[in-house]
Amino acid sequence: MKRTKKVSAILSLILIISIFFTNFGVIAKGENGSTSIAKPKYVFLFIGDGMSQVQVNTTQVYLGSKSNKEIKLERLGFTKFPVVGNVTTHDLTSYCPDSASTATAIGNGYKTYSGVIGLKGDLKSHPENLVEKFKKNDYKVGIVTSVSLNHATPAAFYAHSSSRGNVNDIAMQMASSKVDYFGGGSLALKDGMEEKEVFDSLEKNGYKIIKDKNDILNLNSSSGPVYAISPTIEDSKSMPYRIDSKKGDLELKDFVKKAIDVLENDKGFFLMVESGKIDWACHSNDAMTAIGEVIALDKAVNEAIEFYNKHPKETLILVTADHETGGLSIGNAKNKYNTNFKLLEKQKVSQVVLNQYIEEYKKLHKGKENINDVMPFVKENFGLITKNDSSSNNNEYKDLVLSDYEYNKLEKAFNESIKDKSNKKSKSEKEKILYGSYDPFSVTVTHILNNKAGLGWTSYYHTGMPVMIYAMGNGSENFIGYYDNTDIFKKLVNLLFV
Ligand SMILES: [Zn+2]
Repeated sequence: MKRTKKVSAILSLILIISIFFTNFGVIAKGENGSTSIAKPKYVFLFIGDGMSQVQVNTTQVYLGSKSNKEIKLERLGFTKFPVVGNVTTHDLTSYCPDSASTATAIGNGYKTYSGVIGLKGDLKSHPENLVEKFKKNDYKVGIVTSVSLNHATPAAFYAHSSSRGNVNDIAMQMASSKVDYFGGGSLALKDGMEEKEVFDSLEKNGYKIIKDKNDILNLNSSSGPVYAISPTIEDSKSMPYRIDSKKGDLELKDFVKKAIDVLENDKGFFLMVESGKIDWACHSNDAMTAIGEVIALDKAVNEAIEFYNKHPKETLILVTADHETGGLSIGNAKNKYNTNFKLLEKQKVSQVVLNQYIEEYKKLHKGKENINDVMPFVKENFGLITKNDSSSNNNEYKDLVLSDYEYNKLEKAFNESIKDKSNKKSKSEKEKILYGSYDPFSVTVTHILNNKAGLGWTSYYHTGMPVMIYAMGNGSENFIGYYDNTDIFKKLVNLLFV
């Protein structure tokens, strides 16, 4: 009896090991039938900027409560990946790092100071980074982001600079990067530098600059090297938030699909894709807008999954993040154990659009501003109403009526917003805590809506919360466990180049 148990235990172990290797595609048959360790040929690395597991699960709770009456999550595609890891994010400056140092850790393999792009702590040396290694090994390389292409995260994959603020110099480094495909946002430059200067330098190095939607959709494997720029641009040269997008606007997934079309070749490719505005929406404590950006990332990952389905043994997909932003929580002091995410469905635009509306309103009503003038816009786009609104007895709005406490808070914020900022001293401690660097009225609108839905925010900045990594495909088993963000680089290098 004992012996039978032992034999069956050994057989089970063999079965588990063989399932493991079959599923992860680690062992591949060589041309002569020999068995060898195959390296992935196609590597996707998705980075949700500012996306820890709380941003991911907030999205799953939102989608779940949208389509179910009972408590039920709707899973995003990448949370169903077979391998999950947990990643620490601190840098040489802080436990609450920034995108420059964290993207440097992932794309270059070492810790550096906040704000530094692709340079070690001495601010001089830069051992070969991932993109340089891929290019040396004849892979094609693509870099896609929803924000500007010279923003910190994409920059840390192709540039080296002592400060992320050197945006002009970083943009000029695109031309010598040898990256085959840049796609997504435009360029955020300063001191009067024009995009044309960067485009000219890119064109001198053989790049095509494509801004027309049809031209972008027609890109193919003979189009590179190319920089495909979203025809619609919102704030700071970024692609529009998903919540603000118009029908027909190109989305992050479209730039990923095109990247695959341009990059696919016999030697393989590496594609880094950043959903950069999860971070921006979380900085401004705008949950519904952040949810839209996580969904945009998930849809972009789906393009990679479709590619994986055609090349399952040769493809590795990683989805991770650089850091958490906003100190988001599901649950807050006001709502105890309750959430009401359905209320978020009332939000139709991002805080950026509300800011623009308030700015316009202030110009047109200077000296005669009244909160009652702007409440119809708030009702239409964020669902919040006052006690006096005729819809306050309507079932649809019953949980969106402002309490006296909330109304007073909103009125104070409105009065702050309409103040002439030109002769205003620096912000008080109270103002900094209440509004961060944001328009007081706009940020208070999303705070109230988010709090009513059961969400909480503790910061306008990045936090030290670890992030997740989700992996599927060839080599994915290497990404199990709890490790540091620099290990993502090391694991990829060990898998591909050692
Ligand atoms: Zn940020």
